[in-house]
Amino acid sequence: MARIDLNHIRHAYGANPKSDKDYALREVHHSFDDGGAYALLGPSGCGKTTLLNIISGLLHASHGQLLFDGKDVTRLSTQERNIAQVFQFPVIYDTMTVYDNLAFPLRNRGVAEADVDRKVRETLDMIDLASWAKRKARGLTADQKQKISLGRGLVRSDVNAILFDEPLTVIDPHMKWVLRSQLKQLHRRFGYTMIYVTHDQTEALTFAEKVVVMYDGEIVQIGTPAELFERPKHTFVGYFIGSPGMNVMPVSVEGNRARLGGQVIDLPGSPKAEGNEIELGIRPEYVRLGAAGMPVTVRKVEDIGRHKVVRASLEGREIAAILGEDDQVPADARVTFDPAGINLYDKSWRVEMGA
Ligand code: ADP
Ligand code: MG
Repeated sequence: MARIDLNHIRHAYGANPKSDKDYALREVHHSFDDGGAYALLGPSGCGKTTLLNIISGLLHASHGQLLFDGKDVTRLSTQERNIAQVFQFPVIYDTMTVYDNLAFPLRNRGVAEADVDRKVRETLDMIDLASWAKRKARGLTADQKQKISLGRGLVRSDVNAILFDEPLTVIDPHMKWVLRSQLKQLHRRFGYTMIYVTHDQTEALTFAEKVVVMYDGEIVQIGTPAELFERPKHTFVGYFIGSPGMNVMPVSVEGNRARLGGQVIDLPGSPKAEGNEIELGIRPEYVRLGAAGMPVTVRKVEDIGRHKVVRASLEGREIAAILGEDDQVPADARVTFDPAGINLYDKSWRVEMGA
C-alpha cells in the first residue's frame, strides 16, 4: 500500500479551458496517508469520479503531479500504478464462472495457483458467494454481480490502494450494511489504503476515519466525523452534513458580539471578521429553546423517534432546533445559542475566533 500525494491537480474535460468553471477539478492539493480509510463525500457532479479516475490512471489530469510513496506516477498507466478499482456498476466476465472472475486478476499477475485458490476462497466467503463458485456469472442477479466486482477489487493484496466508486448503489440496504462492515474489518486487518466515494453522509461517516468533503470541483474539508460536525470549515459542509444541516444566518460583528436583525448574540471570542459577508452558523443540536432568549415563532414540530425537530422563525428566517423526545416546546418560545456550537463564516469560509 502507498501514500498518495496529489500536487496541484486540475482537470478540464474540454479543450482550451479558460476560467475556473471550465474545470471539473479546480485545484486539488492533498495527501492520502498510507493505510488510511478515506471517504470522498459530495453531491453528484462535484468531481468525485474525476478525482478517483485520476488517481487510478483511467484519466490523466490536465495539470499537476501524482506521487505514490514519493515516486512520480503521473504518466503511468493504470496497470503500472497497480491500483484496484471497484465501479458503481458490475464489471465482470459473464462467460466465466464466479471463481474464475476472482482468479483472473491474480492469474493475470502470475500468482501461483495454490495462492490463487486460497485467496479466491477467502474472498468468496467474504462476499458470501462460496456456494456459487462454479456458476457462470451470466445468470446472476445485479447485486450478486456487484459482489463479484467488489471481490475482484479485494482479491489482490499487492495493490497500492483500493478505490471504490459508489460500489454499493445496486446492493439492497441490509447487504449494503454487511458489506460496508466487512470493508471496514478488512481495512483493520490488512491496513489497505482505501478511498471510498459516496454521496451518502451516513455511508461516509460510518466507513471512514477521515472524510474528504468535495464541493464544486474542490476539496473543502478533510476531517474526522467529529471535526466535520463541530467545526465545518465551509458553510457547505455545515449544510451537507447533519440532519437537518447547520443553520446559517447573515450577521454583523462588533467585537465579541454578533448582530442578527434586532438581536444581539454573544460570541465565544472576537473574530477577525469585519466584512459585510459574515454569517453565523449553528447546528440545530446547539439551539436551545426556553423561556429566555430571542423570541421565535414556532412553525412546525417534527417527531422523529429519538428526538424532535422544531422549525421556527427567528428575525424573519427559518431556523431548526433539535430537542429530546420528552422536551416540551414552550408556548412563548425563545431561543439561545450554545456558544460551544457557534461558528462564524466570511464569504462561506470559517474564521477563527480569538479570545
Ligand atoms: P461526481 O462523480 O462527483 O458525480 P464527476 O467527476 O462525474 O462528478 O463530474 C464532475 C464534472 O465533470 C461534472 O460537471 C460532469 O458533468 C463533468 N464530466 C464528468 N465526466 C465528463 C466527461 N467524460 N466529459 C465531460 N464532462 C464530464
Ligand atoms: Mg461519480
